[in-house]
This record gives sequence, structure tokens and C-alpha cells, in this order.
Amino acid sequence: MTVWNLGSINIDHVYRLDHLPRPGETLAATGHDQGLGGKGANQSVAAARAGATVRHLGALGPGADWVIARLQASGVATEGIRILPDSSSGHAIIMVDADAENAIVIHAGANRALDPDWLRGACAGIAAGDTLLIQNETSLQAEAARLAQEAGARVIYSAAPFDLDALREVLPHVSILALNEGEAEQLFAAMPGALPVAQMLITRGAKGAEFRDLRSGESLHQPAFPVTPVDTTGAGDCFAGYFAAALDGGESVAQALRLAAAAAALQVTRSGAGDAMPTRAEVEAFLK
Ligand code: ATP
Repeated sequence: MTVWNLGSINIDHVYRLDHLPRPGETLAATGHDQGLGGKGANQSVAAARAGATVRHLGALGPGADWVIARLQASGVATEGIRILPDSSSGHAIIMVDADAENAIVIHAGANRALDPDWLRGACAGIAAGDTLLIQNETSLQAEAARLAQEAGARVIYSAAPFDLDALREVLPHVSILALNEGEAEQLFAAMPGALPVAQMLITRGAKGAEFRDLRSGESLHQPAFPVTPVDTTGAGDCFAGYFAAALDGGESVAQALRLAAAAAALQVTRSGAGDAMPTRAEVEAFLK
């Protein structure tokens, strides 16, 4: 089967500074790194390193060949990534001061300039039994989810960044809604009744994760593996990508949870997001 992912791709510019700039101030950075980011790209890398066949759908501006090459090097198929000549690539300006305090500016750019006609063509290959991953950093998630549902695919929605209007539009087409603890609290406060979705995955950082079947009322708890975290950025994306890859590969929910928790535990022991995603071999060695 195939994991399709309509997802954001960002170029992360990380600037190290003595202090965060004040209004009107011009500051010289003490260091700069450029990396691959965006929840979509992170989840594609995680799912591909987990061993799934992954097809990423999304868009970049011109001049981002290295981004495509980086995704391909992780095993992600990139034919579904469109270059939009009049858009800039999605990017994040991440400023980190000497105390590791940060301030971040994100520009969605090409991620939110997707065209519905292109999407229909891009989703044409989604087949029954495939998996579609979506997050909330592109446009057209609801349309992609609807097309995938019609094709008989499993739709997993990471509703982050949390936006209630976007969620209401997408939810009728979702098989599994994936949230972290804070997002789940916002959802339960905003929609206190029965939710129009069959299954939920709630991740709770070092407290582990829970999978709930809302129809049967059954739930499974997966404890986190004890590790000393270095950088938890992208832990949720690692979990979602591994979980999707495992289900797509025919593993049980319990096994998918265990693999995802082990992968995310390894991921938080490394700095970075997409680049820190472990391979399946590393996860299996960790579980031995
Ligand atoms: P982020 O926004 O940092 O990418 P998130 O808030 O979406 O992450 P979390 O719930 O923090 O996601 O973490 C996802 C999963 O990663 C957890 O369910 C757990 O399995 C693993 N994890 C996160 N933090 C730790 C930790 N400190 N130790 C071990 N596992 C962790």
C-alpha cells in the first residue's frame, strides 16, 4: 500500500542570537543553519524511514531543488510536489537566543497556494487500502480527504496548528484524528458532544499516547519509552509518520503504537526535526 501525504514543506532558517531583537533593532546573528521542516515534510520523512512507500503532495517556490533532493534521499517520492513559479517556498525564520528562548515567523507561501484542479489529478492514484496523511499547514485538506475517502483510503489528520473551522470541514472525511494533549483539550472544550470521527490518537509527550475507538468505546494506552530528551521538536510528526506507515503496512494498532512510541523516543534524543527521524532498523534495534 502507499502512504500519500498532502503536507507542508518549509525551509527552516535558524539564527542564533545573543538576545531576541527589540522593535527597530538590527542584530548580527552569531550563527545560521538551514534545514528541512514543515509538519508535512517531517511526517513524510518519518513514514519513509519507517519503511512505507510514501508519495508527498505539495508545493514549493522556485530554487528549492535541495529540498526535493533531501526528501528523495529519505526515500520519499516527490513527483507530486509542484513548483509554483510565482510563489515563494514556505519558510520559517527561527530566532534562538543564548537562553534557548525562541521567536518564530512562518510564511506559508506555496504551501497554501495549491490549486484544486492540480489536487484532483495528484490524488487520482489513491487506491482502496492506501493511507492519506494531512495536517493543517496547507490549503485543500478537506478536498484531499474527501477524495481519499471516496477511493476507500484511510485518512489520518494531524489537526495542527489547531483551527476549529478547518477541523469541522475536514472531520467528516477523517478515519483517525491525531492530536497532542493541548489540541485535544481545545477540541473537547469547543465540541463537547459526540465527535463526528471514528477513531482518535492523542499523544501526551513523556506520558505516552492513547488510541480511542469512539464507536466501541475501547482505548489502548501506549507508555512513552524512558529517554533523556535533547530536543522534542517534531516528536508528534515522528509519531504520526511511523503510526501511519505501520498501519499502512498491515500492522495492528497496538504494534503501530509501540513502533511509533519507540521511534519518537529516539527522535527526541537528537536535535532537529525531519533530519532526526530514525530508520526502521534503528527503531527495531532500540526495541530489542
Ligand atoms: P511537537 O509539537 O514537539 O512536535 P507534539 O506535541 O505534537 O510534539 P507530543 O505529544 O509531545 O507531540 O509527543 C509525541 C510522542 O513522542 C509521545 O506520545 C511520546 O511517544 C514521544 N515523546 C515525546 N516526548 C517524549 C519524551 N520526553 N520521552 C519519550 N518519548 C517522548
